[in-house]
Amino acid sequence: MKKQYLHLSAYTCDICSGPVIAGSLGVRENEISKESEISAVGAICISCGHRQDKATEPGRPRYFFPIEWENVNIKVVGRSGHSEAAYAEALNRAERH
Ligand SMILES: [Zn+2]
Repeated sequence: MKKQYLHLSAYTCDICSGPVIAGSLGVRENEISKESEISAVGAICISCGHRQDKATEPGRPRYFFPIEWENVNIKVVGRSGHSEAAYAEALNRAERH
């Protein structure tokens, strides 16, 4: 059964060094398949409100365990493209740990 998952990651804000929380959604066709259609949902620093959509080197995002997310009508900010593919790759790498 097709399920949608919410992924959250945290990384350091460029402006205040506080935690930026970034969300993305991935779709899994069944229990054992890899996620596809991973889309960024948004990112915001919970300390100062800066919307920073990427971690700045050398800082690395820390990924939280994905949770099932049923709301399929959520607005996504980006689909496909190089950066999204790289993001999807990073998420899949993180899951293997
Ligand atoms: Zn900040």
